Amino acid sequence: MAGKIIRTIGVLTSGGDAPGMNAAIRSVVRTALGKGLKVRGIRRGYQGLLNEEIIDLSARDVSETIQRGGTILQTARCEEMRTEEGQQKAAAICKKYGIDGLVVIGGDGSFAGAQRLANYGVNTIGIPGTIDLDIACTEYTIGFDTAVNTAMEAIDKIRDTSTSHERCSIIEVMGRDAGYLALWCGIANGAERILMPEEHDYDEDAIIADIQESRKRGKKNYIIINAEGIGDSVNMAKRIEEATGMETRATIIGYMQRGGSPSCKDRVYASIMGAMAVDLLLEGKSNRVVGYKHGEYVDFDIDEAITMKKAIPEYQYEIAKQLAL
Ligand code: ATP
Repeated sequence: MAGKIIRTIGVLTSGGDAPGMNAAIRSVVRTALGKGLKVRGIRRGYQGLLNEEIIDLSARDVSETIQRGGTILQTARCEEMRTEEGQQKAAAICKKYGIDGLVVIGGDGSFAGAQRLANYGVNTIGIPGTIDLDIACTEYTIGFDTAVNTAMEAIDKIRDTSTSHERCSIIEVMGRDAGYLALWCGIANGAERILMPEEHDYDEDAIIADIQESRKRGKKNYIIINAEGIGDSVNMAKRIEEATGMETRATIIGYMQRGGSPSCKDRVYASIMGAMAVDLLLEGKSNRVVGYKHGEYVDFDIDEAITMKKAIPEYQYEIAKQLAL
């Protein structure tokens, strides 16, 4: 449907929330209003679209939101949107409310929904919003910077008490399928081990041997960053304590990584990506996702974007291991 005239833009947040989503919403709203468009906010992601939870948004509705974590539009997962009937219904609701262009802020799954809507004639643009950094077409995803700094600060605090008590600490960070948060915390917090879903075959016996060896070398603590996708941190701590005799505690940082006021980086990237999404819609583009690659803001075809795979950079992982000497 490229070339269609856009008069009303819809915006929704979908999948897991991420700090900076509000900055993206604000940017979409104000850019669109500034260019003479009408803006409709859709609450609770695709579920809210199917339930017709649609509100008009003014410039004032997004006042005082740039510094707030979470998403003022709320977010949800929606099974119905995965079905053809759900997708057709969602497209029909967009038409009913005059939404010619839709900005979807979320992860790969959310982009798949946007792709289906584009097939049914709603011009869609995706903005990468996820703390996981796991979207292949972009080097940056909104929320990662805040989340990784929150986790890093928490781990620093755990390290203090871990050193005082000469403990081993297993710290579980978010990342069901992606190990970026774990990798970055591993490097930033100087962890001895990083366990990531991408490296599933971790060797617990080797970790135990390394802990024993490191104690002989006079190390006062041992930090293991464990990604949520591997999990089992509490049992792992029991097994390690039993085998090494070193007091071992597990801490699951959990949802606090999702919340909090977005960092400067998240606010700025979100603001630029939000404006760019509106501009792409005004250029008549659809089925695209905004990204950041090689120092520039770019856009990709969604079909291509969601089939790309993002691997953990092996060299960075090797560096993390070297620095744990
Ligand atoms: P994150 O993984 O960071 O939480 P995400 O956008 O990848 O973000 P998902 O739960 O995978 O999160 O997807 C969000 C929503 O997008 C789903 O609940 C569903 O409504 C929709 N969606 C996901 N996959 C598809 C698909 N293949 N077709 C249509 N809609 C989809």
